[in-house]
Amino acid sequence: MFVILLGAPGSGKGTQASLLAQQAGLAHIASGDLFREAVQRGTPLGRQAREYMERGELVPDRITVPLVMERLEAPDAVRGAILDGFPRTVEQARALDEALNDKGRRIERVLYLKVPREELLSRLSGRWICRACQATYHEVTYPPRRAGVCDRCGGELYQRADDRRETVERRLEVYFEQTLPLIDYYRGRSVLREINGNQPIPSVAEELLAAIRQDGG
Ligand code: AMP
Repeated sequence: MFVILLGAPGSGKGTQASLLAQQAGLAHIASGDLFREAVQRGTPLGRQAREYMERGELVPDRITVPLVMERLEAPDAVRGAILDGFPRTVEQARALDEALNDKGRRIERVLYLKVPREELLSRLSGRWICRACQATYHEVTYPPRRAGVCDRCGGELYQRADDRRETVERRLEVYFEQTLPLIDYYRGRSVLREINGNQPIPSVAEELLAAIRQDGG
């Protein structure tokens, strides 16, 4: 089963995609994580992506699409995957459809996590992430038990450079301009489900799981 988790930066996509992938036994493919790994390794692709990421802009499709397509070929993604952060443009959605079509597969669910803009801003500016397992915390609403240390794996917590206020605002603008049109792209089919992302993490997780277990699509 191939599932897309669609939502703004700060909507809880990463947290929920990771939970959902565990529960449904699917690979979790996060394009942002793929880029951050490439940046950290200092690969040519990482160097190219970095300048866009620092500005809060989207990395061009000619770089992004092949990177995600390659990840989709990995053995753990054969049975299916939860896509987190990809597609983010209509062009990317078309490329994904074509690639899956060639394999006789298709997107079975698009889960749209809806969260009000003010809530997104507040979530992103207090966000801390584990360097080792990518678990996400919030300094006010979801703090770790020990400051700076991941509850789950004991890894070190850090704040993303692109979670600065100006960059966050640009990322949200980019989302509303370039990614939100995807809702219309998928609305024409019966795969789209809208989920209220402005609730506690377990409630959102429950609704998402129910949405992928529902018939239809
Ligand atoms: P994320 O962790 O999903 O918020 O992604 C962090 C940054 O990586 C984004 O602000 C973009 O610069 C880049 N990025 C991640 N996914 C994509 C994508 N599908 N298309 C273009 N750029 C992306």
